[in-house]
Amino acid sequence: MGLKTLDKITAALESRPAELEQLRKQGKKIVGWLAYNIPEEIIYALGLIPIRIGQGGDGRLVEVGARHISTKNCVFVRQALGQFAEKTDPYIKQLDLVAIDATCIQLYRLEELINFYFDYKTIVLGVPRNFATTEGHEYFRKEVEFFTKKLELFAGTALEQSRLEEAISIYDNIREAIKTLYRYQSLDNAPLSWRQVSSVINAGYNLDRLTYLELLQELIKEIEKNLSAGTGSREIEARIFLSGSLIPPGDTKLIDIIEQLGGRIVGDDLWSGLNFFLNLNIQEPTPYSVADAYLDRVPHGSLPYLDLESDGRLANLKHQIKEFNADGVVYHTLRYCDAFTFKAGETKDVLGNVPFLEIHTEYSGSDFEAIRTRVEAFIEMIKSKKEIAELV
Ligand code: SF4
Repeated sequence: MGLKTLDKITAALESRPAELEQLRKQGKKIVGWLAYNIPEEIIYALGLIPIRIGQGGDGRLVEVGARHISTKNCVFVRQALGQFAEKTDPYIKQLDLVAIDATCIQLYRLEELINFYFDYKTIVLGVPRNFATTEGHEYFRKEVEFFTKKLELFAGTALEQSRLEEAISIYDNIREAIKTLYRYQSLDNAPLSWRQVSSVINAGYNLDRLTYLELLQELIKEIEKNLSAGTGSREIEARIFLSGSLIPPGDTKLIDIIEQLGGRIVGDDLWSGLNFFLNLNIQEPTPYSVADAYLDRVPHGSLPYLDLESDGRLANLKHQIKEFNADGVVYHTLRYCDAFTFKAGETKDVLGNVPFLEIHTEYSGSDFEAIRTRVEAFIEMIKSKKEIAELV
């Protein structure tokens, strides 16, 4: 079934590069940003246009990027560098500033290189390693304060509390809407798929945030209308939960394989997916409060955390698997993404009996068949377990 609002979102995305061109002619500035802890609300409140950058799945761009950075960096970072080297992407070529947070050290390195080789103005937001401590919070508060000052200078205006309050409200509503979409996509006979929700999320990073919020609310209304007509599915399906390294726009290899083999993705805890929208509660419209909220949400896997019992990332993973009624986890890691690769073992251990498949990959298609075989066996195993459980 086709949802009309999805077509509207696609159309809005298609016209966005030209729209940005016009806005730049009128004096607006575009800030491209990357990673997990950039407080987008502050960029927006200063009248700047935030665009989240970074794509995946293009082996050729990875090679272009690799001319400027060691091949021992993950393919996502190498592809991002390739995009900056080529400057053909309609968003990358229009950026007036690039903001990167140092959550993942490889992305921090990316900032140095795009500034040095490709002449982009850049700004870095430091992120504490001990994010759970008081000192970590103090450090990040100061970093966000400094980040805000630099952005104010760039925007030529001071941050007004009322504008920040307005921005926080828009972003809070977007976060709520995304969580609602995730709930709906996981239902039996859902009117939209996880893949479609993922596309909607990625579109939103490029669109004007207020327009995007209105589209999300329209989409939810349309889904709710269609929900009442649905009936429960009786088919035995393998409900797959995705975890591990990010799956950015353009990287569809694993998603294609799972879907081609009859698996159904029902949830994720990816930093490019749902995690980004969870547990972010800004108490007051101030940069300090924004900083605290960003540090208190689900932590990014590249930050060290030594106690498995109280690790918020693992607690969230367990919770989401239950929430989405998933049958198994596909833990996907990109080559040279040490952050998530070295956490695969502990993640598997913490999940205990939950079926767990670890896939280590990159953006070339050479491992397609090998991954396909492993995913096929995993999906079959889940389905036959469920069939047996139904018979008992
Ligand atoms: S966390 Fe992993 S996938 Fe993400 S940028 Fe860092 S190394 Fe790459």
